[in-house]
Amino acid sequence: MYSQEQMLKIIQEKNVEFLRLQFTDISGIVKNVAIPATQMGKALKSGISFDGSSIEGFARIQESDMVLRPDLSTFSLLPWSTKDDVNEARLICDVHLPNGLPFEGAPRRVLYRQLERAKEMGFKMNVGPELEFFLFEKGNGGSATTPHDFGGYFDLGPVDLAEDVRREITRALIKMGFTIEASHHEVARGQHEIDFVYDDAIKNADKVVTFKYVTKTIAMRQGLRATFMPKPVYGAAGSGMHVNISLFRGLENAFYDPETPLNISDLARFFVGGLIEHASAITAIANPLINSYKRLVSGFEAPVYITWSGPNRSSLIRIPSGRGLSTRLEFRSPDTSCNPYLTFAVILAAGLDGIKRGIDPGDPVDLNVYHLTAAERKSLGIQTLPSNLKEALDHLEGDKVIREALGEHVYENVMRLGMLEWEEYNKFVHPWEIDRYINTY
Ligand code: ADP
Ligand code: MG
Ligand code: MG
Ligand code: MG
Ligand code: MG
Repeated sequence: MYSQEQMLKIIQEKNVEFLRLQFTDISGIVKNVAIPATQMGKALKSGISFDGSSIEGFARIQESDMVLRPDLSTFSLLPWSTKDDVNEARLICDVHLPNGLPFEGAPRRVLYRQLERAKEMGFKMNVGPELEFFLFEKGNGGSATTPHDFGGYFDLGPVDLAEDVRREITRALIKMGFTIEASHHEVARGQHEIDFVYDDAIKNADKVVTFKYVTKTIAMRQGLRATFMPKPVYGAAGSGMHVNISLFRGLENAFYDPETPLNISDLARFFVGGLIEHASAITAIANPLINSYKRLVSGFEAPVYITWSGPNRSSLIRIPSGRGLSTRLEFRSPDTSCNPYLTFAVILAAGLDGIKRGIDPGDPVDLNVYHLTAAERKSLGIQTLPSNLKEALDHLEGDKVIREALGEHVYENVMRLGMLEWEEYNKFVHPWEIDRYINTY
């Protein structure tokens, strides 16, 4: 962590001309204001004011003044900005009210609040997100979904034309402080994944946001379009953001217990119990778009049923095979359109509720749940994830724990924006309907 003096010195040494002060709106979209380096002293001292009423899900007009306070630990040069030794840098900011208090409706703040609760219970949350994305040809006014290559899972060039782009993205991420574990072609044509190492939840929520705009920027510079839309191509796999989670107590992984059959602790099981109990409400946050629900269908390794298991990739919660320090749960429903701060916050709130109440998740279901009949699922007590945004919002409305975790401000705005999206979509006459009905009726 830098002091203000150190920060100013670094800015000078690195010849930083502009600083981008960044934060996310309620949908996880990065907002930023650029200031010349000469304004940095002022920004550090008193923050930078902005109009909160222009940011989705923030303030009402009558109380719109808000202040950005840069988190100095997030300082990073933008690798593509260097020109004639002059640099641009970014800082991620917290949002405050003019009276100095934190703005409780800012997504980063929502995650802080849950991490504080975890800390009071003695835990630190670690998160390892896996992001998938598509690379498309540009053209067609920018909305074409022509994949950029013909590769498949783990394929090697020359079919995987995107190897070069992936390498460029990886390079830029490494320059910005990422530790990359792997990068590979995914199942669908044009689909890729780059994994970075797990870390503290705030740091990795920041990294998810950074990951997305670095990927988009590098792709654009190579004449391609990167998208984190959950299901861009009908009939192909969608883009998920599996969230790997563990709780640490000091240096120990509190999810590990060599004495039990699965080698996971009761605490881990209770965390799973909490996730299962709140899974439907979490969906409204982890799968926030109309399009999100076109990914949550059977046949593509995306979860549909609320189950947990050992290695089974058809379940909502998987326990990957790593043990010891890498003992973790993998929560598989979130997609790449979610706001990572809010998503990690509600996952943690659900898990902590499970721990507090000792919620038993029942036995793991080590079957391919896609292949079970409705009757078999019923006899096993297996519930289904919401199948559309409206259902998910209804579940959120009825879930006190998840609502409280979001806080009134964020909750109200998630509901409002979600319902707007749902109504807009329902009013529209889609091409699918024309194809299907126009001749028959
Ligand atoms: P998959 O087999 O599901 O494709 P990946 O290897 O792509 O898994 O990703 C695994 C993720 O889990 C990585 O981000 C990794 O850093 C993370 N991870 C490893 N150990 C832990 C842990 N203890 N807590 C949280 N995440 C972890
Ligand atoms: Mg993976
Ligand atoms: Mg991987
Ligand atoms: Mg994957
Ligand atoms: Mg995974």
